[in-house]
Amino acid sequence: MPYKMLRGMVLRVLYPVLMFISAFFKGRKEVFQRFVINLNNRLVKKENIKTKKILLLLPHCLQTDECTIRLTHNIYNCERCGRCEIKDLIEIADENELNLFVATGGTIARKIVSEAKPEAIIAVACERDLSHGLVDTYPIPVLGISNKRPFGPCLNTQVDLAEVRDAINFFSKD
Ligand code: SF4
Repeated sequence: MPYKMLRGMVLRVLYPVLMFISAFFKGRKEVFQRFVINLNNRLVKKENIKTKKILLLLPHCLQTDECTIRLTHNIYNCERCGRCEIKDLIEIADENELNLFVATGGTIARKIVSEAKPEAIIAVACERDLSHGLVDTYPIPVLGISNKRPFGPCLNTQVDLAEVRDAINFFSKD
């Protein structure tokens, strides 16, 4: 079976089944979501897609809560003070000429994807938003990167920048 179709089965069949099962296993939902994200990423890598038309989609919680600048409609409003990783992510996106957006939820993320029309997406988010997003955007190939949450969910989250660079290189370099 082609990897793209297999990815569709994972996202459209296995994922809802696992979410149903997780209702009976308290606290296991995130483990199942992480499993689906990892499986999706492995299958995307097997497809070996090469493109420069990449969208990098970030969650707004990467922005430090000490910063009051509004980034949702234009991440380039960031003044690049370096108090959070938004500065580094803008630099990475500029170096690689990527489309870069911050999304505050699934509806905005869907709108960004439909307007940017990417051939590949690198998405950073929590496991819940990532797994929902993978299902929503199939068949577009998405490499999902879970954010780090040292202060709990949705607050001053972080991302492994090396993982972001690796994902960009995967799509853009032969
Ligand atoms: S790097 Fe940008 S988003 Fe982060 S605190 Fe500074 S101005 Fe705000």
